[in-house]
Amino acid sequence: MDGKLQDYAEIVGQEVIDELYVLAEKTRHRHLQNINSTAVGGGVAEILTRIVPLLRELGVPVSWEIIKGDEAFFSVTKALHNALHGAPVEITPEMIEIFRAATEMNCREMELRGDVVLIHDPQPVGLIDRKAEAGRGWIWRCHIDISQPAPAAWEFLKPYVERYDASIFSMPDFARDLPNPQYMIPPSIDPLSEKNKELTASQIDAVLQKYGLDPARPILTQISRFDRLKDPLGVIAAYRMVKRRHDCQLVLAGGGAADDPEGVEVLREVEQQAAEDPDIHVLALPPFSDLEINALVRGSTIVLQKSVREGFGLTVSEALWKRKPVIGGAVGGIKLQVINGITGFLVHSPEGAATRAMQLLADPELRKRMGENGREHVRQNFLVTRHVKDYLLAMLALDYPDHDLVNL
Ligand code: UDP
Repeated sequence: MDGKLQDYAEIVGQEVIDELYVLAEKTRHRHLQNINSTAVGGGVAEILTRIVPLLRELGVPVSWEIIKGDEAFFSVTKALHNALHGAPVEITPEMIEIFRAATEMNCREMELRGDVVLIHDPQPVGLIDRKAEAGRGWIWRCHIDISQPAPAAWEFLKPYVERYDASIFSMPDFARDLPNPQYMIPPSIDPLSEKNKELTASQIDAVLQKYGLDPARPILTQISRFDRLKDPLGVIAAYRMVKRRHDCQLVLAGGGAADDPEGVEVLREVEQQAAEDPDIHVLALPPFSDLEINALVRGSTIVLQKSVREGFGLTVSEALWKRKPVIGGAVGGIKLQVINGITGFLVHSPEGAATRAMQLLADPELRKRMGENGREHVRQNFLVTRHVKDYLLAMLALDYPDHDLVNL
């Protein structure tokens, strides 16, 4: 862990740190057990890697476990993930059977140690079958945009979610009709992590050079798993339109996630599209390439996150924190981060992305202003200290199920 709690005071203010200790005092008697489906790759693992050590430093007993699953299970959960994001994916009896079998196995094998069990996303949702073992609070933390799910997918998931004591969504747009309390907690980034800490100009240059990027010409970048919902082909289409007027380079950098079996196929499609243009750099990065991603973003002129669906999109806050204007798809959690015309631009199409990229390339003052706005927006709303506070508050709320107000 590179950041100690006290180090954050310089960024967020001492009172924020003091407040965390006050809240931790009230929650320390309960062990918080996080369970998700991958230790590496994707936003959930990214966040847990940062939050778990900070909670520990606050004296809150905390653990993080990963469920098991074979390829068939993760193909089913990826299809479910896409369907919950609204894709017209059929949920077949065979898929349900695969999900149930893996859930039963995980129910048998998972060691439950939490007084509060915080289940992240749909893959481990079925562990709620062990709720009958009394004495634990159960919270389902949804990281995805579940505002317009394919009906069959939500029908499948809802009976599990309903049995939790509470659920957490990233923004009000995602709230569902559920019998239990719902908390709205946006994700966060860690300003002191390898991925976000300040770098020297020579560190940035070294990475640009390593990947054959020319620092003298504009660089447009999207950092994402190779996933169709991140619309990498739309990014290439936008870049080609920009390229007719502005000499620029495109970086599409991403790695896989252990629970995402579609990545290889999408990477292949992207590589095919990019093949004939030496200014398109498709970088398949290994896990833990944080310093390189940090440098790639810092070396960029504009960052894109042209998702067509997005739970939050940590990559957006990661870029805004580095004072980069972001062109983002006008979907899900991107809308919390990109304030149109203030921290970047929200777009609905490759044409829209291209138009905004050209506007930004032609106006260094606008880029600078948006970059400053973005940095402050993230500082106020999307840093890990705020996230830790919200999780402590959610734990506290479980202790007072019938209270609207908890007096500390
Ligand atoms: N990321 C990474 N390596 C990659 C691609 C992405 O470390 O090759 C990180 C990215 O910087 C961000 C997280 O993985 O911190 C992705 O989270 P996001 O919410 O943007 O999307 P998700 O993958 O969860 O849909």
